[in-house]
Amino acid sequence: MSNLTIDDLMQLVSNYSTEEKKQILKAYKLACELHHGQMRESGEPYIIHPLSVAYILAEMHADADTISAGLLHDTIEDSDITKEDLREMFNKDVATLVDGVTKLAKMNFSSKEDKNAANTRKIITSITDDVRIIIIKLADRLHNMKTLEHKKKFKQKENALETMEVFVPLAYYIGAYRLKSELEDLSLKYLKPEAYQNISEKIEIITKENDEWLKEMLYKIKVLLEEKNIPNEIKFRVKNVYGVYKKLEHGLRLNDIHDLFAIKIMVKEIDDCYLTLSNVHRLYNPINRKFKDYICNPKTNMYQSLHTTVFAPNDTLVQTQIRTFDMDKIDNFGLTAYWDIHNEEARNVMQQTLREKYQFFKSLVEINRVFGDNKEFINQIKKELFGGQIYVYTTDGDIKEFPVGATLIDFAYEIHTDIGNTLIGGYVNDEYVGVDHVLHNQDRVKAVTNDLAFGPKPEWESIAVTTKAKRRIREFNRK
Ligand code: MN
Repeated sequence: MSNLTIDDLMQLVSNYSTEEKKQILKAYKLACELHHGQMRESGEPYIIHPLSVAYILAEMHADADTISAGLLHDTIEDSDITKEDLREMFNKDVATLVDGVTKLAKMNFSSKEDKNAANTRKIITSITDDVRIIIIKLADRLHNMKTLEHKKKFKQKENALETMEVFVPLAYYIGAYRLKSELEDLSLKYLKPEAYQNISEKIEIITKENDEWLKEMLYKIKVLLEEKNIPNEIKFRVKNVYGVYKKLEHGLRLNDIHDLFAIKIMVKEIDDCYLTLSNVHRLYNPINRKFKDYICNPKTNMYQSLHTTVFAPNDTLVQTQIRTFDMDKIDNFGLTAYWDIHNEEARNVMQQTLREKYQFFKSLVEINRVFGDNKEFINQIKKELFGGQIYVYTTDGDIKEFPVGATLIDFAYEIHTDIGNTLIGGYVNDEYVGVDHVLHNQDRVKAVTNDLAFGPKPEWESIAVTTKAKRRIREFNRK
């Protein structure tokens, strides 16, 4: 990508309006001027970096303001230009985005100073004002990770670790899976170089070995769907290196990974998804317990798809993911998929949906409301949003997401405040447990309540992990 030129970028946005293309070109020229004479550690002219960032954004179908801001994202930091200047030369959005990305770079999670904590808090909460800031930051990080070989060894590790801890979760939260898996693999490459090398080679070999029948499988499905008049597109993907690494770490062998190979089938309508499912099962036997309906039960980051793992030829398992074209767009690009809509009103609706539906943003808003002290706020953010997640099932088969360490108390309050307030215990995988029981991934959980219960004890507040539960317990005990 280092031979990238402005022509490549313009080609990618060739279907944008004349006005938008003009603005992107203008942003490029200004960025060239302002970074003139600066070099990257690789020895290349600096402009290659913002240009690459803009290119990644254009690949995600970002709007012209976001791409322009991508081109200009390092100019406030690296030159004398100000937010005001950018607002006059471009518009308010471009100025706010560049300013937001600049501030995000100064975010310091581990600082012990109060002043920094206050600043970090402001930055984190500003994310909910315009999610495009995160996307530019993610594209920025992706390009920096791709060019990490030019940095010193300890810097490489430091950046890789930060990417894993902060940016991978962010990509996940906005549902940008493609960015997420690229960032994971690049991080692993520097954190565990041997494992990375080893697994990449193994994946390559096993993919080649199975290539023939996989192609045949794709073909058979395609033919059957065409016979049934279901227009479709079929793609094939191999699990990313990091994904495989995690499974192997859990003691699985490469051949046991049920989604090492996945076939993605895209169709037009939701009804076609279910028709496709039955046709796939007609050709290949499914493993019953591996079926998941994320169309009825979207993940908390809005991911939707049907997942079925089938017995493929050659005694191999293949995961089949069936979804509409729109769902696929969201899977690839996350929220940015909604950007195909080029008007402000539509984007405001998106911003609103984001705040109401995405678990990450809901939690962020809640944490901001409950924690007055800046340091406590940041600690809670780290624990609740960047400490990893688990998924548990309700007895209705709904999937709920919690931070690692969440207890039955958190579960109960997530379902309903009344359930939390009358909780006396529960069943986890059919075994009776106390309210402070720590939940684990894939647990089946049922809360047991009693209307005569005394209500949450004050000490529950410190047992609970989620801010939502903590707040409800505090409110109950205040009354
Ligand atoms: Mn940058």
